[in-house]
Amino acid sequence: MSTNEHDRLETRVIHAGQFPEPTTGAVMPPVFQTSTYAQEGPARHKGYEYARTHNPTREAMERCVADLEGATTGIAFGSGLAATSTVLQMLPADAKVVAGDDLYGGTFRLFERVYARRGISFSYVDFTRVDPRAAIPEGTHLVWIETPTNPLLKVTDIAAVAARCKEIGALLAVDNTFATPVFQRPLSLGADLVVHSVTKYLNGHSDVVGGIVLTSHDQVATDLRFLQNASGAVPGPWDAWLVLRGLKTLAVRMERHQANARRVVDWLAEHPRVKRLHYPMLPSDPGYDVARRQMSGFGGMVSFVLDVDLARAERFVSSTRLFTLAESLGGVESLIELPASMTHASVPPAQRKALGIDDGLVRLSIGIENVEDLLEDLDQALKAALA
Ligand SMILES: *Cc1c(COP(=O)(O)O)cnc(C)c1O
Repeated sequence: MSTNEHDRLETRVIHAGQFPEPTTGAVMPPVFQTSTYAQEGPARHKGYEYARTHNPTREAMERCVADLEGATTGIAFGSGLAATSTVLQMLPADAKVVAGDDLYGGTFRLFERVYARRGISFSYVDFTRVDPRAAIPEGTHLVWIETPTNPLLKVTDIAAVAARCKEIGALLAVDNTFATPVFQRPLSLGADLVVHSVTKYLNGHSDVVGGIVLTSHDQVATDLRFLQNASGAVPGPWDAWLVLRGLKTLAVRMERHQANARRVVDWLAEHPRVKRLHYPMLPSDPGYDVARRQMSGFGGMVSFVLDVDLARAERFVSSTRLFTLAESLGGVESLIELPASMTHASVPPAQRKALGIDDGLVRLSIGIENVEDLLEDLDQALKAALA
């Protein structure tokens, strides 16, 4: 492997898990667009038989992300939800899962509408309020947390949850999509598995859907590698290659996302019509202390509540020029979305209110454009909405 343990993350995003291709010396791992491989004799081959099981482009991407998360093994999938689904396939049929209560909507749907019907039982806890010892009973097989969460950016203390999981022999999985390994490495805080929607920051260019699971737990790695092949939810080689290319700029992208987000947060904090601001790197944020302890930065996600009704909030998010009105996040371009009308529209209004998702809640995924342009765009859209 081309990196050593002294190399810093900014170096490893570019080199980890990659080496010149042996037959030609190509510097970038090629797209191995093949489904099968010639054998020299029956069952005599170079380790590659069939591309659901092994593909060199996919393997380079898996090694790279595993290295960034400090894992021995990376196992890639065709989407973030395929990664999550395959983790659930490891569990016994009557398993007990405890999950955070502010999950990505698709994860919640997968738990409740697919796996709960097959006998797995799920309970949901606000880990920012309830002590892990009280929240996680003996007999729990898996604990699933997302931190920071979407769209309220709530922060869970990973080490505290990991300590309880160790005590009772439960596995801890952390969805690290929002933070990325640039700012948070859950395995170093005691988690057993890290899951990513590669679709977001890891790829970073809004042109791939993908997922990956990282672990250093030998049995979990063996089980997931078996299931990756047995269930077959693998990504294609082009997508793996695009992710490998995207990863090379992950460190510089995250720095710029963070710097831009910081300026936008400072601007919003001064605005008289912003009544709440969610950004865990602000000392006033309830997640600040834990975020400072377990994260080295925060990236480009910001949410805030405008002191306006739903109609004006809709006018605001429809009036931006550079911020594209869209779901998803983590790409180089800035996006804006209104959870009450978009990502969380299926949650009944009363429950939305209980969760803190007000009609005026706006979520930004701050891109890497020039921040002055972004601030001017937000300013003109707010003026248009309030006129
Ligand atoms: C998008 C997302 C997922 C699901 O990933 P897909 O790639 O869309 O399947 C899971 N978790 C989080 C936090 C996400 O943002």
